[in-house]
Amino acid sequence: MKLYDMHTHTNNSHDSKADIITQTKAQIAAGAAGFAVTDHCDVQFYERDHVFERIQNSVEDALAAQKRFSGQVEVLTGIEIGEGIWDEARAAKMCRAFDYDVVLSSVHAVRYPGLTAPFSTIDFGKLPRETLEQYIDQYYTDMIEMTEKLDFDVLPHITCPLRYVNRKYGRDIDFLTPYRDKVETVLKQIIERGIALEVNTAYANCTQECLPSYDILSLYKEKGGKFVTIGSDAHAPENAARLLFDAAEMLRQCGFTGYYYYKNRKPIFIRF
Ligand SMILES: [Zn+2]
Ligand SMILES: [Zn+2]
Repeated sequence: MKLYDMHTHTNNSHDSKADIITQTKAQIAAGAAGFAVTDHCDVQFYERDHVFERIQNSVEDALAAQKRFSGQVEVLTGIEIGEGIWDEARAAKMCRAFDYDVVLSSVHAVRYPGLTAPFSTIDFGKLPRETLEQYIDQYYTDMIEMTEKLDFDVLPHITCPLRYVNRKYGRDIDFLTPYRDKVETVLKQIIERGIALEVNTAYANCTQECLPSYDILSLYKEKGGKFVTIGSDAHAPENAARLLFDAAEMLRQCGFTGYYYYKNRKPIFIRF
């Protein structure tokens, strides 16, 4: 089976130090047939982080690597737009700014009063349980709005806050049962719009720790979901294409017969 890692970062993202050459060589070493460079475009930090210039560099870097490593690995261009619903015009503009192979649209921060910072920076340790539950509820509300309104191809790492809430701060929040209606709405909307669901392996030590986990993936399959991608979300070379075979195996167990990669924003099927 050919391996395509559809979610990776380089030093054109604020939170990665790895240059494109290092990341490309790491993907080749990991046996990938291809990978997408999907650097961050968090709309709320657009000016502060000089996002337009970074994305321009990201696309140029990916195209240069595509030429240089031609025949060894396929380098695809992309972008990961964060908080697009906070500024829809900017998200739309960035979505059209370059000819990407794939556009990811993520929720990294939630419109919850007083807690609008990226969830990777919030101390969830002492938050009252009720607040925490309302926060997760708002996370899904934001995702419903995003999957309804924005133009994109792949929904990355649904349930991502649990990495911090449960794993880092040791809380015990069920991310599905109390929010089932909202999760189902998100899944229904992406299925209707032909948007793919990503299995994200970052920080996972086993398939149970992939985002989303088996239960949500099965729900997606059950409802008729067809498009799935796999992504390491590697910000460093040691994580390139990490655990992707495991993610593919989990998809197979859910009943999928293969997964997809994207080129020119069109899904291409890879059979298991
Ligand atoms: Zn992300
Ligand atoms: Zn990412």
